[in-house]
Amino acid sequence: METQAELYRELPSIDDLLHDPAIIKMTSEEGQPAVADACRTVLATLRAEIAAGRLDGGRLKLALSGLLAAVQNELCRALGYSLRPVINATGVILHTNLGRAPIAERALKHIHETAAGYSNLEFDVESGERGKRDVHVDRLFRKLLDEEHTPTAAPTSTIVVNNNAAAVLLALNTLAEGGEVIVSRGELVEIGGSFRIPDVMKKSGAILHEVGTTNRTHIADYERAINENTKLLLRVHRSNFEISGFTEQPSIAELVTLAQKHDLPLVEDLGSGALFDLRAVGINDEPGVLDSLRVGVHVVTYSGDKLLGGPQAGVISGREDLVRKMRANSLFRALRVDKLTYAALEATLLSYIKRDHNAIPALCMMHLSKAEIAQRAEALAPKLHSNRSFQIELIDGESLLGGGSAPSATLPTRLLAITSKTLSADELATRLRRSAPPVIARVEDGRVLLDLRTVFPEQEEILTRILTASDTL
Ligand SMILES: *Cc1c(COP(=O)(O)O)cnc(C)c1O
Repeated sequence: METQAELYRELPSIDDLLHDPAIIKMTSEEGQPAVADACRTVLATLRAEIAAGRLDGGRLKLALSGLLAAVQNELCRALGYSLRPVINATGVILHTNLGRAPIAERALKHIHETAAGYSNLEFDVESGERGKRDVHVDRLFRKLLDEEHTPTAAPTSTIVVNNNAAAVLLALNTLAEGGEVIVSRGELVEIGGSFRIPDVMKKSGAILHEVGTTNRTHIADYERAINENTKLLLRVHRSNFEISGFTEQPSIAELVTLAQKHDLPLVEDLGSGALFDLRAVGINDEPGVLDSLRVGVHVVTYSGDKLLGGPQAGVISGREDLVRKMRANSLFRALRVDKLTYAALEATLLSYIKRDHNAIPALCMMHLSKAEIAQRAEALAPKLHSNRSFQIELIDGESLLGGGSAPSATLPTRLLAITSKTLSADELATRLRRSAPPVIARVEDGRVLLDLRTVFPEQEEILTRILTASDTL
């Protein structure tokens, strides 16, 4: 039996390792510091194993014969990306934890063609003078919002900031700093990622004036609360929760009338902000951007990566004079977005203008019928039978819009329900998450559920490979 000191002596030094021809090759490809780090990590692991008494001479010999492979593995792990693609089989279209809306192909192409080199981001090519970055999307928002508007409505202007939380902050700070903002108690929401209306209000320098109760707020509550310090009326989409039963909330039209009577701006945080008619996919109670502007809301704020289906952004659309004030606020400079966002947004908006909704992945997924999804699931199921431990059924279920859209908004779908004879549903879901790429699925009633609505057709082959790979499952 070898002593630990003898075992340690068997280990090569870092120097020895770095002179090994295979390691020299790695160094030429990945750089000396990263390779030296990987060597150190592998040797440290072996030392720890020896110290713990888990290696005898024979086992150490075996470990040393795999040393170069271990360094290679460690190098791959250390130099691999942390942010990676996953397969979303949850059926939640705007999954906040999975990056919300996937970016459209044409948007990626536009990012590539403009961001890989120089662009006219803030340069007016006609005059040769400095330009404004917002012109690139303002014209498209005008086309989408004003042309569909009633002719009597005032023209709108649009600016873009980093996300909708920033949009709300900028709107409140610009229009209500130092004054009161009236909000219903039923709308003091917290959205995921700790966006809370009262907190954002505080940061904006505006004073929250709550009215009504959690379940019932009347238009008279707003009216009574208006005083000489009132700067703004705020309506917030409840997004991720619902109040049902004995409830009351004034209509947007009533709030518009009240705001006009007192000459106060009415701002609506729409959250999702659909630019298309959700009734087309059978969702009837989710207000769109146009619905609000048509009724006369002065300013709406919404996310770029929720129902709009574009990049992360916060969009502020509304009356020109109010939006102009926000643009002039120095906070706008701090919250502005980069050229990648403008490129992706411009391309996404052009798809709306061309009425090419299918070019936007999130919209395309929403438009998929249950029959189309069932057809894909039926074609996939037989391919999984080579995995003998699986029992596969097709069952009816529901996909979710997600992303803090209407909480009740679901779309009918057909699910692949998998039971494994050897693994529990949770174990199976865990193994799927650890596959490459990770597959994210739902677990319900002891089964793993896969919803192909959110799986891109071109991912089905790799999904099949993962589900039939005997070494992972
Ligand atoms: C999602 C949401 C937000 C936050 O939007 P982000 O783009 O994630 O910053 C704010 N308000 C409402 C009502 C929302 O639904």
